[in-house]
Amino acid sequence: MNNSNRYRPECIGCGETFSIKRARLGYNVCLDCGDYQAHSQRASWCIVPTPKGHYTRITRKSDLLSLNQKTR
Ligand SMILES: [Zn+2]
Repeated sequence: MNNSNRYRPECIGCGETFSIKRARLGYNVCLDCGDYQAHSQRASWCIVPTPKGHYTRITRKSDLLSLNQKTR
């Protein structure tokens, strides 16, 4: 079997080869790692409880710091 002339894109995340169709779309990660990247981006948001008792979504560290000062 000789398929050395077939381009197999390799995921930069896990090293697995993935669909060439995906590579042509500009991805350099496999489907799994692409999902993981999307999730980790969402996870960078941080949910913190406020003194009023409800939860707020913090996307900047400065917001978190000012919130801490108010609780004191
Ligand atoms: Zn991967």
